[in-house]
Amino acid sequence: METVCICCPIGCRLKIEKVDGEVRVSGNSCPRGKAYGITEYTSPKRVLTTSVNTGTVTYTLKTTDAILKEKLFDAIAEIKKLKLKNYNLGDIVIKNLLNLGVDVVITGVLKEV
Ligand code: SF4
Repeated sequence: METVCICCPIGCRLKIEKVDGEVRVSGNSCPRGKAYGITEYTSPKRVLTTSVNTGTVTYTLKTTDAILKEKLFDAIAEIKKLKLKNYNLGDIVIKNLLNLGVDVVITGVLKEV
């Protein structure tokens, strides 16, 4: 597979392949790119950002760290269950989301005018 390393603005183009049972990364300019490429191949993760609209307030939220891509839809469903009220920027609204070891935090509060 091919992808772009997102660990820094340079954006090296990575080629990732499995050879003799070993994941090999080429195109990276530093060890971070190799580590990123291996993770992308074996267990890709993403930080989840989303929003919840209560009718009067829109909260934007994000996970405090990346979670497995395969868990993103379950995580969104869990977040959409929230009944948010009177939260402020930086408040944690879910601790240890789906036992994934990350919290969900408020990153923005947009009030209707
Ligand atoms: S491989 Fe290294 S230099 Fe290249 S984009 Fe990733 S972090 Fe930046």
